[in-house]
Amino acid sequence: MQLTKEAEPYFITFELEEVEKRFNNVVNFCVTYVNINLQEYKGVALRISPIVGFFRGDEIAAFADRVYENSYSIEMNMPSWSVIYNFSHNIVLQPPIKKLFYDYLQRELTDDLLAFYAEVINDMMIKILVFHELGHIYNGHIDYIKQKEKEYGVKEDSKAFSTSGKKARPFIEPNVWQALEWNADDFSATRMVGIFTHKENLNHLGIDDCFSMFLMVISAISLYTLMEMGIKANYPVNYKEQEHLPKRYRLEKYVDTLFQAYKYILNKEFGGFNKKLVTETLIPFFETNAECFMKSYFEDYKNISISIDNNKEELDDAHRKYYEKVDRDYMIMLKKELEGYAFFEVVDNETLFKGEILKLLY
Ligand SMILES: [Zn+2]
Repeated sequence: MQLTKEAEPYFITFELEEVEKRFNNVVNFCVTYVNINLQEYKGVALRISPIVGFFRGDEIAAFADRVYENSYSIEMNMPSWSVIYNFSHNIVLQPPIKKLFYDYLQRELTDDLLAFYAEVINDMMIKILVFHELGHIYNGHIDYIKQKEKEYGVKEDSKAFSTSGKKARPFIEPNVWQALEWNADDFSATRMVGIFTHKENLNHLGIDDCFSMFLMVISAISLYTLMEMGIKANYPVNYKEQEHLPKRYRLEKYVDTLFQAYKYILNKEFGGFNKKLVTETLIPFFETNAECFMKSYFEDYKNISISIDNNKEELDDAHRKYYEKVDRDYMIMLKKELEGYAFFEVVDNETLFKGEILKLLY
């Protein structure tokens, strides 16, 4: 399979200043959104500074950290922006995705319209990433880790949510690390649905909530697939001792939470398309395209192993069983662990909806 020819001119690069400007806008938007809820809930707001840095080669990556009390930062790896931008603008030009859009919208797809959807997908992918990091902050993960550091006498020399950060904190159990990742994903998915099913936002974008869900699902698939594609997990067999969560599995859960959040926020079942379309059509399509895109985009890079088969073995029964257990346990475990740290309730008592406070979204 090849990327269509017309897609090639869209590989563009960005200057740091431009990425900073765009990233600042996204972070400020997301932070304002969450802060409005927090103000109403507890009368406080957090300060979060966006940073664009260079720390993980060309990987799509971001992490959150604390600067001082009630003040935090989110740092995004600079190449993330170009990879996400170029992928979004390429994917909408691929014939199968054009067909999906056409089937859905039943209208002529002009280049302008496709470019507009590419921008929406680009924006959604960055927001998924940013809300995940905000989940680590607002749900108290960062303060929890900082407190543990103090108790165990760890110097604050490694970032809380980076690979080195996790290695420097062996006193936090792997299942707790993993639960924190679920929790940040749930925070992200619920906020995405809150924003992108809100009437005014939909009017502004000129789409209905159903198509918006379609774009959110596409964006989540794109992001997790791109993150998985170029990275081979070294020792997946030791999953129980690591903080690692398989991206494919995270993606499945993320999409599940999107559907659950839709039902909860809009108080109706989502009827636009079913999970079958996601697992049998969309995910395989995006995996093939992401592999193809990454191979073209990183043509000159010989040292990264881009393959659709990367880490597929992580989805065997034993892994699934273990991660399902972590996911089940997390509602009880994290609620206790994060008491006194989380700015929002980690689990809503009445609904047991994860990552909750959905009722505060409007
Ligand atoms: Zn995380």
